[in-house]
Amino acid sequence: MANKTVRTRYAPSPTGSMHIGNLRTALYEFLIAKSQGGDFVLRIEDTDRERYVDGAVDIIYKTLQAAGITHDEGPDIGGDYGPYVQSERKDMYMPYAQRLIDEGKAYRCFCTKERLEKLQEDSVGGGYDRRCRDIPKEESDAIAASGVPYVIRQKMPLDGATAFEDAVYGTISVENSELQDQILIKTDGYPTYNFANVIDDHTMGITHVVRGSEYLSSTPKYNLLYEAFGWEIPTYIHLPLIMGKDADGNISKLSKRHGSTSFEELVAEGYLPEAIINYIALLGWCPKDNQEIFTLNELISAFSIDGISKSPAIFDYDKLEWFNGEYIKAMTAEQFIKASDAYLKSALGGSGLDFNKVAAILQQRVTVLNQIPDMVSFLAKQPDYEKELFVNKKSKTTLENAPQLLKMSYDALSALNSWNHDSIHECLINLAKDNGLKNGTVMWPVRIAVSGKAVTPGGAIEILDILGREESLKRMEKGLKKLL
Ligand code: GLU
Repeated sequence: MANKTVRTRYAPSPTGSMHIGNLRTALYEFLIAKSQGGDFVLRIEDTDRERYVDGAVDIIYKTLQAAGITHDEGPDIGGDYGPYVQSERKDMYMPYAQRLIDEGKAYRCFCTKERLEKLQEDSVGGGYDRRCRDIPKEESDAIAASGVPYVIRQKMPLDGATAFEDAVYGTISVENSELQDQILIKTDGYPTYNFANVIDDHTMGITHVVRGSEYLSSTPKYNLLYEAFGWEIPTYIHLPLIMGKDADGNISKLSKRHGSTSFEELVAEGYLPEAIINYIALLGWCPKDNQEIFTLNELISAFSIDGISKSPAIFDYDKLEWFNGEYIKAMTAEQFIKASDAYLKSALGGSGLDFNKVAAILQQRVTVLNQIPDMVSFLAKQPDYEKELFVNKKSKTTLENAPQLLKMSYDALSALNSWNHDSIHECLINLAKDNGLKNGTVMWPVRIAVSGKAVTPGGAIEILDILGREESLKRMEKGLKKLL
């Protein structure tokens, strides 16, 4: 076992968008494999046709790609253990079920749906009564040959207990008397999920089975299947639940009411894939030191299974926003211009304003990209504002001195030969100096007049530069009228 290559698999069911919990599973599987020089496999589990959603497979590929989680084997790139789509493996399962029948570890159950439903109604949690478990083999063969439909069930041990080791949750043990004779193959010949995942994981050489803790209670059944076949039991790694904080302070399973729960939604809101990945890496895993910002490669180096926690992780949207802001600040100017372009276009398209200059005043202030339109729309169209905005204690501006201050700046700026950041800067700084005023006292009324907002990205100088001479002076004239 020591030198065996670590192989993990991400086995999503294509049922819609990629929930944060699924993405975290994929990430941890990837990190567990990569941190040990192993292989990460993508397997599409599409046999539940009722839950199948067209286009969902595409979302899986796109999400993994955007997140930088690259698989070594999968439906799109092949590999030695294919096929990698469960529906294409459908003929592989029956021979394994047949083997268990031949060895007396499984049996055909001919009970009708009606009988099973009746049993369900009559028994209080008793489940299937194992009526077909002891039909002699020849008789069972003969009934099957006559065309009576059947399922194949596993013979669970009737007494004793089944225990397994989970790398995160420790030893888990259940009484076998609590386990039903689980169905392995359905009447239509297709395997159940419980059967298929064991056969797939074994035949694909998976060494570490990583999945959400909702699968913990099914794992004894999987374990009994490995034992029935005499196969090596993989390392089980169950991941803690992801919870959200409710309005009343309680926590419950992360859902829509807490906010966006899928990768696509978060990206559409303006969270960067790298920031999302960094944040969710820490949702249930704790690095050995206090480092918080990790590139994917750093995660690969730092990740270890013993850092995975069993207590539920709380998805904190504020914390995600903090991470996102850090990633935005760390971008190069070019990267930020590219990332903000669509948002700037939606707010400023057709305005003729220089997006590069607008991006420059935004980058250090934006924490989620979808904040951008609201932050910059005043540049394209000035909002209506109350003249009380000119009043500011810290800058020592009042309704009394604002008209004078604004007129003074207006005159000085109108006289400028060239209109650019440096010339505007020099003009206003000198104006303050020459008049024995604080810079803020000069800048405040100007910034209010050209923006119409108390809070803006960038100060008076940047806004004047972006708006250009004509628009800036026009807005200042309007401000003066308002004040007089
Ligand atoms: N197809 C299952 C799901 O999407 C996979 C569970 C597992 O990892 O075995 O929940």
